[in-house]
Amino acid sequence: MKLGIVSDIHANLEAIDAVLTDMNLHKVDKKVCLGDIVGYGASPNECIETIISNFNYIVMGNHDEASIDLDRSLGFNLAAKEAIQWTAKQLAPDNKEYLRNLEYGYSTDEGLLFVHGSPNEPFDYIFSDREAQIAFQTAISDFEIAFVGHTHTPGMWFLEGKAKQQPIRYDKPDGEIGKLEFRIPEGTKAIINVGSVGQPRDYDTRASYVIYDTETRQGTFVRVPYSKDITIGKIKRAGLPYSLWHRLMYGQ
Ligand code: ZN
Repeated sequence: MKLGIVSDIHANLEAIDAVLTDMNLHKVDKKVCLGDIVGYGASPNECIETIISNFNYIVMGNHDEASIDLDRSLGFNLAAKEAIQWTAKQLAPDNKEYLRNLEYGYSTDEGLLFVHGSPNEPFDYIFSDREAQIAFQTAISDFEIAFVGHTHTPGMWFLEGKAKQQPIRYDKPDGEIGKLEFRIPEGTKAIINVGSVGQPRDYDTRASYVIYDTETRQGTFVRVPYSKDITIGKIKRAGLPYSLWHRLMYGQ
């Protein structure tokens, strides 16, 4: 089965539309969204509706949770807090209800785990080998391959004795569709961070997602350019903080 996996859309409709177009060219069988559909961006309702109508598995992100319960945004920085308050006011009642009913994770019979932040705790971050090691050792449910997002930076860790991060380099530069193909060795546990669709932070402005084939254990990290100017214009017109559109220009 071929999966298309996204995370951290952050109310960026142009980016998720570009990713869906690319994903459909690759004819994936099932689509998975690892959360943070809303927050930061200016198209929260449109993004929720796009995700509901296109994706098979959808998990809760910390911004999704905060948009329906503002107390959950206490730890957010000022711009994130301002955006989540704006989002809470924009959300249609049906869409709020939908977010409220999301699960924090899914595991499949094939040993796959889908969670927003970490197998260890739904909203923990995995940046380092050490954090990945902890996630492998203290996962809430056993898994062979976990797909996560949350850091907005694509990443891949294999457990070979210790957790070790694998390098990610795309074949084409920013501005074009970029790819990196990978294969998870038989019997190796892995954590794959699919990056962010709507607000990348690895100095690459393209929307990020991952394709993974459960039979061949082969996958592809994909980067897709999208119409950033349209997204930036919407954030400006919504009166959201400067930093939220500025970072889309630089991918950080
Ligand atoms: Zn996020």
